[in-house]
Amino acid sequence: MDFAFKPEQELIQKEVRNFCKKELTPEYVRWMDENCDFVPDELWDKICDLGFFAASIPEEYGGEGLDLVTSMCMTEEIATASVAVALGMGASNLGASVIHHLGTEQEKKEYLPKLAKGKLKFALGLTEPAGGTDILGSIQTTAVDKGDHWLINGQKVFITAAHVADFITTVAITDPDADRHNGLSLFLVPRDSKGLSTRLIPKVGCHAAGTNEVFYDNVMVPKDKLIGTLNNGWTELLSSLNNERIGTAMLSLGIAKAAFHDASEYAKKRHAFGGPIARFQVLQHYLADIAIEIENARNLIYKCAWLSDNKKPFHIEACMAKIVAARASEKAAIWGMEILGGYGYTMEYDMQRYFRDYKQMVFSPISDEMAKNMIMQFKGFPKSWA
Ligand SMILES: Cc1cc2nc3c(=O)[nH]c(=O)nc-3n(C[C@H](O)[C@H](O)[C@H](O)COP(=O)(O)OP(=O)(O)OC[C@H]3O[C@@H](n4cnc5c(N)ncnc54)[C@H](O)[C@@H]3O)c2cc1C
Repeated sequence: MDFAFKPEQELIQKEVRNFCKKELTPEYVRWMDENCDFVPDELWDKICDLGFFAASIPEEYGGEGLDLVTSMCMTEEIATASVAVALGMGASNLGASVIHHLGTEQEKKEYLPKLAKGKLKFALGLTEPAGGTDILGSIQTTAVDKGDHWLINGQKVFITAAHVADFITTVAITDPDADRHNGLSLFLVPRDSKGLSTRLIPKVGCHAAGTNEVFYDNVMVPKDKLIGTLNNGWTELLSSLNNERIGTAMLSLGIAKAAFHDASEYAKKRHAFGGPIARFQVLQHYLADIAIEIENARNLIYKCAWLSDNKKPFHIEACMAKIVAARASEKAAIWGMEILGGYGYTMEYDMQRYFRDYKQMVFSPISDEMAKNMIMQFKGFPKSWA
């Protein structure tokens, strides 16, 4: 078994790391957290030039056709510098994944080259106010076939990037009589559609990747904006959701690594009782425990990416990676704050941001509890026991 990156992956890692050092400085990331509800256009364009979106899009559609391990390696660097930036960009990567997996040849040719250049932004509109975990039981948004168009009515909640997206990939009921597994479809709804509106929801962290309510009030959507197979949207979306889980795990890993870095540096510089606090074994053990969780999470995430690249199933591992990485970020942010003592609790150090940012990773895109339910379902337990 070879755990090493290939030389070309190491090169990309180095390039993205250097980019982050230059463009995502701690001051700039702090400024975004305080002032932005999305990745600023100027930064977005620079990250596109770096090939972030092109990485996973096949060459015939204008991308680089790199494997998931390499894309993850880019995300790791960006998420360590700014999780909000990686999250905001990840929403469009998910859009590209949906089109790549479900789109017709014509749709791929229409959207993917623009996505590869970062010229289109996407959001995923799945969750509804009545519940995200039990989405199949709570979904109410409908799309009715009106002959020459679809008419969409309903509401979504917590939709990342919906306020800036060109398209919101919207999950809606198309067969109200079928059970939900067989009655949902996906639509690429242009955000500028008449009757569609968004409202930013103020949230605790990840400020530069804003989250929204989305309202669909008699939104007329052209017939060709149905993506994938009519009434089979749920099943078809699931493969992209696995990638979303490991992508989120990578975001958590980024937070954990940043918190570990800041806490270790602080401990080496801060003096108490005649020397640096880093010499206290108890603090070293805190840091060692965080380092162990980081290593575990990183191994699981890259294992998932490797499984995906080798066309092997990774449903269980994706759920595990999501949980292990979210908990690594939790431990790093909470213990990191303790290592910084009172300073960790001020707004003048970045630890407070890691503390605010990590929480989103615990219940999004699925909560840890639901991820555990799914692990046991994959292990053969009946769904009704969850
Ligand atoms: C900042 C943010 C960004 C998001 N971005 C997006 C996005 O871009 N697109 C999108 O579609 N959605 C998005 N989401 C929604 C996210 O996927 C949901 O919040 C998540 O699925 C949980 O749903 P919920 O918030 O309705 O909680 P609920 O489903 O109400 O769950 C509440 C609690 O009950 C527990 N619970 C529920 N059912 C079970 C069960 N069977 N067993 C054990 N525990 C259970 C949950 O684990 C949780 O602890 C985002 C959410 C947030 C907060």
